[in-house]
Amino acid sequence: MDEPAPTPKLPPARERVGPINACLAALYPEFEGLNHNGPFQLLVAVILSAQCTDKRVNTITPALFARFPTARDIAECDIAELEQLIKPSGFYKNKAKNIRACCVGMVTRFGGEVPGTLDDLVTLPGIGRKTANVILGHAFETPGVTVDTHVGRLARRLGLTRHRNPVKVEFALLEIVPQEERLHFSGRLIMHGRKVCLARKPRCETCAIADLCPKIGVKGLAAKRRRKGRKSASPKSASQKTVSKTRRSAD
Ligand code: SF4
Repeated sequence: MDEPAPTPKLPPARERVGPINACLAALYPEFEGLNHNGPFQLLVAVILSAQCTDKRVNTITPALFARFPTARDIAECDIAELEQLIKPSGFYKNKAKNIRACCVGMVTRFGGEVPGTLDDLVTLPGIGRKTANVILGHAFETPGVTVDTHVGRLARRLGLTRHRNPVKVEFALLEIVPQEERLHFSGRLIMHGRKVCLARKPRCETCAIADLCPKIGVKGLAAKRRRKGRKSASPKSASQKTVSKTRRSAD
């Protein structure tokens, strides 16, 4: 069990996770999500959402699914046409390749359907645990904990785990987050990571869950920024030194 030791002032992670989730639920009653109708559409939308906002993906998918309504349609499609349809999502060549390969996998091994288990899902090209958990949570109602960069960072800062490996973070959170809250807990952490607990400059002063957070690693971050600031200032002083040396030799 990966539960960090309690800090002197705060209860252990297992006791804090409920109040943290409740606070975040009040903050983010409706977070953006991917529009979809069934597991196949969700799987494609999740692949499109890499490096792209949900909002933009939602503008692309209606035309995409009108043209290619099933996995078989995409598996047999002209990749250039698929690329054009998904172009606004960015990295469209790679995404088109992954989506088609994934659909070929579904057609050849799963009868054209999205498999409903984590073990089967991760065998499809382009589907990692993170994507698989999103699909299981939203389309099959068997919620795992989705661990992306925001969830991992917040889980560590909040003292919910010490792990850096996303799979280990996932297992640590599975132990302390109740099943019915898992899916939304991930979504709320992601929103909080995007809006408040930013990677380089967390806004702890205005954070609604500051009282529940040991802010692990945050102090170190400020020191790191100060060191970086000093470093970037040092070439200037080096050149000033050079100038004064030149001046000295001119003198
Ligand atoms: S208090 Fe700071 S470190 Fe903790 S969740 Fe809020 S912003 Fe992140």
